[in-house]
Amino acid sequence: MQITANQAHLKSWVEVPAHSDFPIQNLPFGVVSECSSPTQKFVAVRIGDHVLNLAAMAEYGYFDDLVFSQQDFQQDYLNPMMKHGKMAVRALRNRISELLLDINNSFRLQQEQHVALIPVSAVETHMPVQIGDYTDFYSSKEHATNVGMMFRDPANALLPNWLWIPVGYHGRASSVIASGQDVYRPKGQIKPDDNADPIYAPSRQIDFELEMGFITFDGKPLGQQITTAEAEDHIFGLCLFNDWSARDIQKWEYVPLGPFLAKNFASSMSCWIVTLDALQPFATATPAQHPEVLSYLKFEGNKSYDIQLEVAIEIPQHPEKIVSKSNFKYMYWNMAQQLAHHTVNGCNIRCGDLMGSGTISGPTPDSYGSMLELAWKGTQPIQMPDGSERRFIQDHDTVIMRGYCENNGIKIGFGEVKSKLLPSL
Ligand code: MN
Repeated sequence: MQITANQAHLKSWVEVPAHSDFPIQNLPFGVVSECSSPTQKFVAVRIGDHVLNLAAMAEYGYFDDLVFSQQDFQQDYLNPMMKHGKMAVRALRNRISELLLDINNSFRLQQEQHVALIPVSAVETHMPVQIGDYTDFYSSKEHATNVGMMFRDPANALLPNWLWIPVGYHGRASSVIASGQDVYRPKGQIKPDDNADPIYAPSRQIDFELEMGFITFDGKPLGQQITTAEAEDHIFGLCLFNDWSARDIQKWEYVPLGPFLAKNFASSMSCWIVTLDALQPFATATPAQHPEVLSYLKFEGNKSYDIQLEVAIEIPQHPEKIVSKSNFKYMYWNMAQQLAHHTVNGCNIRCGDLMGSGTISGPTPDSYGSMLELAWKGTQPIQMPDGSERRFIQDHDTVIMRGYCENNGIKIGFGEVKSKLLPSL
């Protein structure tokens, strides 16, 4: 089935502000409720400064010839809609695009428009996906190299397996939260003095990790592999992802099984899932890979995406400070390779799984994706607008990540993932 919703010439009768992340070429999916009825959640698509209530649209019959029922959208999460798979969701997005086109009056002139199309200021966004399993990769060569240089041997910064394996670990789904929800500074075991016993205290080194996440459709049954050629059929869309990390807890706990409590206290995701379909016009080449990868990791075509990313820190009473500008295309291992590797042993992925990219650092110091790297292990603190310095994130700091793609005069974006760090409970 063709994607008809991406063409650059499309225009909507819904007014879309200039430079909006959400023109008709985007149409990302999310879950919202009206402020007047906060517990009544439903699936919506974002356009400009409005959201389209898909439960209402189904009830009015606009999706009658598609596989969806009204029940698929009268939901707390996108999962029941996603259960119908890639082609069904593509048909749905094509249909929504048609209904919002400036040359189409079939929905525009109905009274129904005034019910189903709601100003974004009148809704609350919620966690969009019920995440079953969460896996975090470590796929930025620059990030892995920087961390290796700081904590191991600068001459052998990348571990021997890194150029062969899209390294990852199983994270925890229960603490993945939506943009806007505050995060509490975690407590745990830290070892500030190498020559003394560890202590139990609030972490002193809270960091963000600039990542993107992708959300899966159903995969294959247990035992079967997904190839790199098949991978995109199993990817619903992407979000911005801040994988909060406690570096001091991490440093003491991570040997030999990897991160545990340093990572699972919170990870924040943006609320609008931009479909992989919408990102197709922004597909681009992955960095060259040497040594040549094993056969199951080979792929054809452009498997990366040109998504410009930025991180800002906002402190109370001051304008935000942009601390990093990076790009998703810097990732050494692409999503198709990550999914092929994840399933190469027969591990099954399911509808609603979340895969984190790993921290996305670029080649220059202003493109690093964590405070650990930006302040280079505390040696180069970042100056803030009030004259204070940051080596890590302080209580009451808000971390904001944004991302967008732009070419041929079309910009589509992800909005933001924004969360404030509060003192330990
Ligand atoms: Mn991470």
